[in-house]
This record gives sequence, structure tokens and C-alpha cells, in this order.
Amino acid sequence: MKTLERLLERNRNAVRNLESGKPEWLEAIAAPQKPDIYWIGCSDSRTAPERILQAIPGELFVRRGIANQFRPEESGDRALLHFAVNVLGVCQIVVCGHTDCGGVLGSLQDGPSGALDEWLEPIRGLRRTRQEELAGLETGAQERKLSEWNVIHQVELLRQSDVVRQAWKEGRPLSVSGLLLDLKDPRLHKLISYQGTASGEGIEA
Ligand SMILES: [Zn+2]
Repeated sequence: MKTLERLLERNRNAVRNLESGKPEWLEAIAAPQKPDIYWIGCSDSRTAPERILQAIPGELFVRRGIANQFRPEESGDRALLHFAVNVLGVCQIVVCGHTDCGGVLGSLQDGPSGALDEWLEPIRGLRRTRQEELAGLETGAQERKLSEWNVIHQVELLRQSDVVRQAWKEGRPLSVSGLLLDLKDPRLHKLISYQGTASGEGIEA
């Protein structure tokens, strides 16, 4: 059997299982979406938020990419943020990094990584500016530390974005949080979280 046929058969089996075991899941996927959470995570195949949170369809609006970055210079990222906050009206933005992240591991050294270089450059920049803090740590600890810094950096970029600042100035309930998923547990650990203030600055919560 060809790979695509196998995939389609797997889908039909999954639907059959859901029909008998989780009919509410099938109702949810056919209903309009009303997500409370905009989730920015890594593309790593082990980190699907729907699995980690046991979410049903419609609960999470998701953007995944290498090493869970928000890139304000990218129109796609700006459009997603705008849509999540101003159209869907999410009340939580979550940036979720994870341990054993290939993108972060690749950022512990400078290139060449081909097409990845441009994408990893901001994380490599974080590593270069805080190199002394990583010195002396073994690779696993360096990778975890850089993952944490990367998540916190993305949260800062979101906090400074026009979309988030405007929502906060208007008094809309919106938090921006950074989490790290430890794949060994696999549990989520809070790194940082901001709630809005009338000034649009946000305070740690
Ligand atoms: Zn990753």
C-alpha cells in the first residue's frame, strides 16, 4: 500500500474510533471555532499542544515553527497575532518552548545550517550576548537555558507588539505567557507571564 493510501486509511480508522468513543470530538470539529488561547509552539513532532493539553477542536489557535518564534518582521506572524487577538478574541497568548529542541541545539553554534541560518539567527544572537552565562554548563543544560531565554525573548516581543499593547490599553483581558515543556515528564513549566495595564505596558503576574 502506498504511503498516502495508508494515511487515508488511518484517518478513516481514526474517525470510526471517534464515532464510537468520542462523539463530542466530532461535534466540536464541525462547530465554529472559539479558541481562548493563541499558542506559539515548536514544529517538533513531539510537542503538539492538542496532545499535551488534551484539547478538543476549537480550543486552541496554533502557530508552530522551528523553535517557537514570534517574528514581528514577518507579515504572516503579524497577521496571525492580529487575527488571534482582534478577530478571535483570545484571552491568552502562550509561547511554549521545549527541552531537546533541535532549533535551539542548532543555535548553540554559528552556522552553516543552510536555509535555517536566517531563521535561527535571533536565537544565536541571544546565545552570543549571554555567552559567559552558558560557559561551564554541559550541552543539555546550555540547551535548556537557551530555550528558556528564547521563550522569554518571544514573550517580550509579543508584549511590545502594537496588537497586544492596544488590547491592554482598551482594558481587554489578555495575558502573554512563556512556558517550557520538559519532554521527560512531559509537564509544562511557567517561565514568565504578563497581564495588561491601562498604560499598555503589562505587569508580571
Ligand atoms: Zn523545537
